[in-house]
Amino acid sequence: MPHPSDPDTSQCPLCGQPNGCAIAAGRAPESCWCMAQTIDRAALARLPADQRERACICPACGAPAAADSVAAPGVPPSPPI
Ligand SMILES: [Zn+2]
Repeated sequence: MPHPSDPDTSQCPLCGQPNGCAIAAGRAPESCWCMAQTIDRAALARLPADQRERACICPACGAPAAADSVAAPGVPPSPPI
């Protein structure tokens, strides 16, 4: 039974894009991208406390920040939620 206040577990809580989570899509957990990709712990740390352990973040937000290829110069950081 859905709760109105529950976040959509298929969306990234950081950017609002589909997170591609296999579990949220009803597929086997081991088929999720997060099983093959390292999740940046700093990205997880940016999650609001009430979002943790609920919705998965997306591959783009979860990817460890590479010094030279993450975002175009001049792109402001995401505002705090
Ligand atoms: Zn995201």
